[in-house]
Amino acid sequence: MTAVPSSLALHRVRAAAPECVGAGQVRYAPLKSLWFTGMAFGAVVGGVATFSWAAFALFLAATAVVLLFGHSLGSHRKFIHSSYDCPKWLEYTLVYCGVQVGLAGPLGLLRQHELRDYAQRLPQCHDYLRHGRAWWQDAWWQLHCDLVLTQPPLIRLEPRIADDAFYRFLERTWMAQQLPWALLFHAWGGWGFVCWGVCARVTAGVFGHWLIGYFAHNRGGMHHTVRGAAVQGRNIRFTSLLTMGECWHNNHHAFPGSARLGLYRGEWDPGWWCLLALQRIGLVWNLRLPADLPLREELVALPQPPQHAGLLDAWRLCFRSWRAGAASADLVVRWPARWLSRAALARLFGASVRLRRDPRRQRLTVHAGTLQASGLAAFAIAAAQRHRALAVLCAVLMPLLLLDRRGATATGV
Ligand SMILES: [Zn+2]
Ligand SMILES: [Zn+2]
Repeated sequence: MTAVPSSLALHRVRAAAPECVGAGQVRYAPLKSLWFTGMAFGAVVGGVATFSWAAFALFLAATAVVLLFGHSLGSHRKFIHSSYDCPKWLEYTLVYCGVQVGLAGPLGLLRQHELRDYAQRLPQCHDYLRHGRAWWQDAWWQLHCDLVLTQPPLIRLEPRIADDAFYRFLERTWMAQQLPWALLFHAWGGWGFVCWGVCARVTAGVFGHWLIGYFAHNRGGMHHTVRGAAVQGRNIRFTSLLTMGECWHNNHHAFPGSARLGLYRGEWDPGWWCLLALQRIGLVWNLRLPADLPLREELVALPQPPQHAGLLDAWRLCFRSWRAGAASADLVVRWPARWLSRAALARLFGASVRLRRDPRRQRLTVHAGTLQASGLAAFAIAAAQRHRALAVLCAVLMPLLLLDRRGATATGV
C-alpha cells in the first residue's frame, strides 16, 4: 500500500486506499459539454455578429470582476482554502461572483478541487486528475468529460459549508445564475451585451481555467517540489494579471493555505494586492502566509538561479545603504583577484561587505539574496555601503554604470 504524507491527515478527502484515485474511467458528460459548447457558440458566432466596442468593454470588465473577486478571492482563496477571514456577507458576495465564472456550483467546485489536490499529492493518480495527457486530449477531457472513479473516496465537507442554505441554493442553480445577468444585459444593450457579457465571459473563464490548469501542471518554473507527489505545480510567468495571481501554482502546491500566491520578487499577485486593500479598510483580516502554515516534511525548496539587478533593484540597494548608514547588509562580493587584494577591497567597501575570492569569475560581482550585479554597477553597489554620500553618488551614476552589461551573463552563486 502507498504511504500517505502526514499532511493529508486533515484533508477533506478520505480514501480507503490511496490507489483508488488512480482507477477510473473518463466518460463523456453531456450537460457539461453542452454548457461549454453552447457558451462558446454564443461567444464566437453571436459575438462576431453583434460586436461593438461597448459590448467588448463589458466583456473585459465583467471577466476581470468575476475572476478577481469571484474565482480568486471568493471560490479559491476563501471558500476552498479559508486563507483569510471576512464578514459572512462578503464571503457570500464573493462566492456568488465565483459561481458567475460558470465552472460549477460552489460545493461541486470544492469537491473537484479537493479530489485533485489530494490525488496530486500522492505518488500516483489518474492522468485526468494531474493533467497528464497531451493538451488536446486534456482539453477534451476537462471541458467535455468527467472522471468516474471505480472507488470514489469520501469527501467530507464541514457542516458550516455543506449545510449552508445559500451555498446549497447556488449549487442547485449555478447555471441559472447567469440568467438575471443575461436579462439585465439585454435590457441595457441588447443581444450584443448578452453575447459578450455572458457567453464570451463564461467561455473565457472556463477555457482559461482549463488552459492555466494544463500549463500549471506541465510547464513553468518551480521554487519547491513536493516529495513523492504525482505531479508538481508550475509557476506560469507573464500570466499573473490575466489570472489575478492564480498562475503561481508551484507556490500554491507548496503552501495551499497561503492567501498570498505570488511569493517571490517579480511575482505579481493582483488577488493579494486586493486583499491588502480590503484589509486596510477593515473588510478582511487574519491573512494567512506560508510562515503561518504547519511545516510539511515532504516540501523541498529548490536552489534558485541568480537574478540580474535592474535599475530599480540597484537603486533600492543604494537607498538601503543610505538609510542604514555604513552598516547595512547582506552583500557578498566575489572578485577574480587579479588586480585587487582582499585588504584593498575591504578598505574600499567597509567591514559590512563579505568578500569571497573567486578566480573562476571574470569580473567583480555583488550578490544580495538571489539578486546579482557585476562590473561597474556591482562596484558602485558595494561602495555605497561605505558612506551615505557615496550611496547618493552611486545612485545618481547608476543608470550609466548599468550600461556596462558585459558581465550580465555571469551565473553561479
Ligand atoms: Zn495543482
Ligand atoms: Zn487550491
